[in-house]
Amino acid sequence: MARGWGFLIGLLGAVWLLSSGHREEQPPETAAQRCFCQVSGYLDDCTCDVETIDRFNNYRLFPRLQKLLESDYFRYYKVNLKRPCPFWNDISQCGRRDCAVKPCQSDEVPDGIKSASYKYSEEANNLIEECEQAERLGAVDESLSEETQKAVLQWTKHDDSSDNFCEADDIQSPEAEYVDLLLNPERYTGYKGPDAWKIWNVIYEENCFKPQTIKRPLNPLASGQGKSEESTFYSWLEGLCVEKRAFYRLISGLHASINVHLSARYLLQETWLEKKWGHNITEFQQRFDGILTEGEGPRRLKNLYFLYLIELRALSKVLPFFERPDFQLFTGNKIQDEENKMLLLEILHEIKSFPLHFDENSFFAGDKKEAHKLKEDFRLHFRNISRIMDCVGCFKCRLWGKLQTQGLGTALKILFSEKLIANIPESGPSYEFHLTRQEIVSLFNAFGRISTSVKELENFRNLLQNIH
Ligand code: FAD
Repeated sequence: MARGWGFLIGLLGAVWLLSSGHREEQPPETAAQRCFCQVSGYLDDCTCDVETIDRFNNYRLFPRLQKLLESDYFRYYKVNLKRPCPFWNDISQCGRRDCAVKPCQSDEVPDGIKSASYKYSEEANNLIEECEQAERLGAVDESLSEETQKAVLQWTKHDDSSDNFCEADDIQSPEAEYVDLLLNPERYTGYKGPDAWKIWNVIYEENCFKPQTIKRPLNPLASGQGKSEESTFYSWLEGLCVEKRAFYRLISGLHASINVHLSARYLLQETWLEKKWGHNITEFQQRFDGILTEGEGPRRLKNLYFLYLIELRALSKVLPFFERPDFQLFTGNKIQDEENKMLLLEILHEIKSFPLHFDENSFFAGDKKEAHKLKEDFRLHFRNISRIMDCVGCFKCRLWGKLQTQGLGTALKILFSEKLIANIPESGPSYEFHLTRQEIVSLFNAFGRISTSVKELENFRNLLQNIH
């Protein structure tokens, strides 16, 4: 339990310093080494090496996770893509066809998902029906059983409570629609230039605990940057407390993951008959090659691994919630739902067995008052980032941006709910800790994205090895 976030970040930092500092004369690096040299080998002097993560993810987890995410329960995500941007008015909507999102017709989504009021056990069925009725009424109806009232109060409390890191969409809004994630995959859309930079800029400049005076390196919206800004930035980043540094790395990891995806599913060719999507090595190199990005690319890839480890840890912690006999991945197809639950539990047990988990207990572990303030700041910054997603001008990017921030927010909620999860009863409703279907779908799909990125890095590594 001694190895916490701080430990992990410290180790990542140590590798970073080692790899950017004392290098001896060596033969010129290959294209693959220029992207991956800092992202391979031992991350530290414990057993934490990238290759173990790669092997674990690419061969044990990734195939099973993909299968789970193809199931009806996980492929339909309800989202409101029409919420106005709360920060500025001049959003230029991306008119490209690849930015469009095709929502589901109502008959495409299984009834069991649209109306979660049917469950396989009568007891669960009654409880959910009563809870949904109470939620519709917007208050706890006194005619409900005492047990249900308690559950509704707890769930409502938790749904808008201080434990939520994300500003959840109002999925009851008539503007919210189901989207089939398999039919709207995250890939290259052509959303780029000042509009996209503005979003990333606002996220980093105003929401990553960064003072205005310090500039991010290679920031396209800031002119006249050079080496001195770069070193100021990193000494500022290293000087931050571990939590704030971790916050920056999580966002940077998410950014890197999105950019890995768009490079891996790039529009390679378009004819009037078909479009061909695939790996664009040049695009990948421009974003992650150590020389072309002045050392930034490999750092970003390490942040991606950091994000992977955080989400992996959250999944390992939330197992008791899913293990309860009452928990169902309900779609209305009983046999499939049971099989999917078995697959989900198999995946979670596999994750639990991962040997390199870190202990997040050192996070916010300082002085109690200060820790509370820090956690609150952290949560507010994260909620702000989830609201910024409503300003993304490309609907496809907005969809996946929202889903991934909600998924990461859910992972953080889990990590900071350890005591509540420990109190989850082996059977019966879980009063103190609850995840909505939206949170479950976003949590697993968001992790599926990072897991796919890690797998794609192996593909790019292989492709780059053939380049001299
Ligand atoms: P950008 O990726 O826009 O980055 C801007 C600047 O930030 C860079 O110049 C660099 O200085 C810095 N930077 C880059 N990566 C990192 C990192 N990992 N950590 C820290 N700093 C970094 N495009 C698609 O084609 N498909 C998508 O699905 C998609 N989804 C998106 C979702 C969101 C929420 C946003 C804001 C954008 C999305 N985009 C998507 C656009 C894409 O992320 C890039 O913005 C775009 O391709 C332009 O890339 P760029 O090379 O100009 O730099």
